[in-house]
Amino acid sequence: MISENLLKVKANLPTDVTLVAVSKTKPNEAILEAYATGQRIFGENRVQELVDKYEALPKDIEWHMIGNLQTKKVKYIAPFVTLIHGVDNFKLLKEINKRAKNEDRIIDILIQFHIAQEDTKSGFTFDEAKEMLESGDFVELENINVRGVMGMATFTDNKEQVQDEFRTLNNYFNVFKSHFFKFNETFSIVSMGMSGDYDIAIEEGSSMVRIGSTIFGERNT
Ligand SMILES: *Cc1c(COP(=O)(O)O)cnc(C)c1O
Repeated sequence: MISENLLKVKANLPTDVTLVAVSKTKPNEAILEAYATGQRIFGENRVQELVDKYEALPKDIEWHMIGNLQTKKVKYIAPFVTLIHGVDNFKLLKEINKRAKNEDRIIDILIQFHIAQEDTKSGFTFDEAKEMLESGDFVELENINVRGVMGMATFTDNKEQVQDEFRTLNNYFNVFKSHFFKFNETFSIVSMGMSGDYDIAIEEGSSMVRIGSTIFGERNT
């Protein structure tokens, strides 16, 4: 089932859109089935679960932290995480930099923007992110690399609203690219789109989709 679902999803993605298979709450066997189909990028949103799965599963898996990350837990994933999607405050970014330095690594991150009409979803506003990127404190962070932006649209059937929100995020990406990352070719990721809305996200410029339930089935928790 999983490999069938995965192949179906992949067949629908343009080749320049990266798939993060969101395996949160799912057992290692499910991940291995996707792995056997060729998938190497997996997304998790809980630190303990991510660490456990990293330790148990093949080492050529790229692990993405996609959820809300508490500052005090960064140290557990700093040795191995490939990309942290949900960076939504400067304190967190500073901690990622510090832990990356301890590990002698540069950790890739995405700046999360608040684009939804829902308070439960976190992220920077445009002005907050701009202020952060202009600050001298930001320039000093040598062990992080900002690869792009991430956001979640409102959970709604209103397609136009979702379209609007994704379009906004893609605009932010373009503005930040030209103002702050013109010479950083690795600033190239627009992480948007989940099972329910990834087709819209791709129409609006997504370069990375995070898909869970369509591949692994509904989650119970
Ligand atoms: C769970 C989750 C996803 C995947 O959601 P599905 O609807 O199962 O595809 C994507 N992004 C984030 C941030 C998530 O927490």
